[in-house]
Order: sequence, then structure tokens, then C-alpha cells
Amino acid sequence: QKGERTRLVEAHKVAADWYQEQLETPEAEIGRTFLAERGFDAEAAKHFGVGYAPVGWEHLVRYLRGKGFSDKEILLGGLASQGQRGGLIDRFRGRLVWPIRDTTGEVIGFGARRLREDDNGPKYLNTPETPIYKKSNVLYGLDLAKKEIAKSGRAVVVEGYTDVMACHLAGVTSAVATCGTSFGEDHIKIIRRLLMDTSQYRGETVFTFDGDAAGQKAALRAFEDDQKFAARTSIAITPGGMDPCELRLTKGDDAVRELIENPVPLFEFALRSAVERHRVDTAEGRAAALEEASKIITKIKDRSIQHEYAVQLAGLLGILDEQFVVRRISQLARWQ
Ligand code: ATP
Ligand code: MN
Ligand code: MN
Ligand code: MN
Repeated sequence: QKGERTRLVEAHKVAADWYQEQLETPEAEIGRTFLAERGFDAEAAKHFGVGYAPVGWEHLVRYLRGKGFSDKEILLGGLASQGQRGGLIDRFRGRLVWPIRDTTGEVIGFGARRLREDDNGPKYLNTPETPIYKKSNVLYGLDLAKKEIAKSGRAVVVEGYTDVMACHLAGVTSAVATCGTSFGEDHIKIIRRLLMDTSQYRGETVFTFDGDAAGQKAALRAFEDDQKFAARTSIAITPGGMDPCELRLTKGDDAVRELIENPVPLFEFALRSAVERHRVDTAEGRAAALEEASKIITKIKDRSIQHEYAVQLAGLLGILDEQFVVRRISQLARWQ
């Protein structure tokens, strides 16, 4: 009698192989076109194990039953859901599927993208929480990226599956992404473990986000979560709000590498966005921006770094007397 985990991992392996085979079928033309339009050829698809889930209700369910998996196991693994008439329904239908692997390379879940206009499901559909898949502690691409992250001392965090693919193909092989959830404390822990040199960080983490508000919010949340992490975190801002996949497609591999090489420190990014939210051409606006940004700076525990950012903030606000800013910050710090 094998353990539950082993059985579910086996089912995922069988499913991943089957999805990959389906990508070769005539029906999957739409999926191959989607990949090609994003700059991914057959070899790239294979490298990441991308597959196709056909339209229909129980293709995978039947296949898995034929391979000896019980309905209970198929349901438990999230590969199917319970239909209204009692039967099982394939979870992913008419979608491209990305196998999500754990650090050891075992498939534990899938992310799947809608391909057809008439599909009114969500754009991305992921495996639900199962005994082997917890989205809060999964990073897509980590199996491929962990070596480079440890070696280079740098982790690159992007938003989506296609962005991970684009980064790796462009030579940024330390790229990972969260799977249908925001970057949180457990993700920080995973990366920290890879970057940690016993007691202190030696590594840095670079985030890239789509130019949208959600992306910026995610970055600032990382800042709130963990000071030490934040101190070694920077943000690569894509030109024109493109994501790395779009950047690679329009500007090529070099542009993706350059993007990652020139990030803005998270603190600086946080300061800039605090300043940008106010009208600094008025005295009231400058005062409000100063208050907001100062609160960010007081969170920095290292005194000399704190001072450095205070000076920077004075520059951003056009305040000539930088000592005024420094004093305001130590005032705030005393009240914390
Ligand atoms: P594409 O280029 O294929 O349209 P993308 O990867 O650029 O997609 P975004 O809309 O920028 O997608 O979303 C980034 C990531 O957020 C996705 O890769 C996916 O992991 C997640 N995501 C997006 N939409 C959803 C959704 N409806 N449900 C769950 N996760 C989602
Ligand atoms: Mn987005
Ligand atoms: Mn995107
Ligand atoms: Mn995209």
C-alpha cells in the first residue's frame, strides 16, 4: 500500500505526460499558435513540459482510471471535480497547461490558460489546494531555477508562467513566479532558504511586475513583510508596462537581461511611489509626501542606510535643506 502523497504524485506525472502528448493533436493547434505568438517554439514548450487539455468532460478522468487511479484519488489530487450528476469532470478543458513542480522536480499541480473566446471561465485556472499542492508555498520554475539562484545569489520573481519561460529562454535562469496568488511570507522563506548563508543574507531578490497597480502593491507588500528581505530587494520596472514575456517578444532576449540587470532598490521604489501619489509642486503636497515617505524610511533599521534614503528623499521632493528631512525622520523614529 503506497502512501497518499506518492499516489497523487504518480497521478500528476501520468497526467502531465498525457497533456504533453495532447499538445501534438490537431485540436491543440490553437494552443500551439498561442505559444508561437508568444515566441515559444516546440522545444521551449517541451523544456517546460507545457501541454494541452482537450475540450470535453472526462478525457483525462478516463485515461487515469485506465491507468489504475481511483475516482477518489483523481478528485483528491484536484485533477477533476465532482460534476452535478455525480460523475467526475476534467478540471482543465480546452486549455494550455503548465505543470507546476516542487523543488525536486515532481509535478504537484497545474496552471491552465483559457484559449477560446467563448470560454467564460477565468483566464488562468490552477489546481486547488490539495494534500500535495499549497499555492502559498509553491513557486513555478523553482526546480529549474534553484541551482542558479543559489549560485548567483539572486532570485528573480516574475508574475506569470509565460514570464518565467521568457526569462529562462533569455538566459535569466533564476526566474520563478507565484501561481495564482500574491507573493507572501512563505515565498519569502523559500527564497531566503536558498539565498541564506547561515546567519545573514548574501543574496538579493529582483521583482518584475506588470506596470499595473496590482504589481506595485505586491512589491510594497514584500516590503511590509520582512525588513531584512526588503533591504535586499529591488524592482525591475518594465518599459511601457510590458511583462517580461512581451518585452522579449518585442525587444528580444537582450532587453530581458538588461531589465534584470538594472533594478531599482525596493526602498527607492517605495519612496518614489509615495512621492508620485502627491502633488509635490505645492507646499501641502510636499508635506504630505514627506510624511508618507518618512514613515517608510523610519522602518529601515540600519542608521546609515536610513540617512542615505533621507537625503535621497530630500532630493526627490526638491527640499534643499536635507537636514530638515533627516530630523523629521529621527523624530518619527523616536515615536515608533
Ligand atoms: P497572458 O500573457 O497569457 O495573458 P499573463 O501571464 O501575462 O497572461 P497576467 O494577467 O499578467 O497574465 O497574470 C499574471 C499571473 O497571474 C498569471 O500567470 C497567473 O499565474 C495569475 N493569474 C492571472 N489571472 C488569473 C486568474 N483569473 N486566476 C488565477 N490566477 C491568475
Ligand atoms: Mn498583470
Ligand atoms: Mn502579465
Ligand atoms: Mn502576458
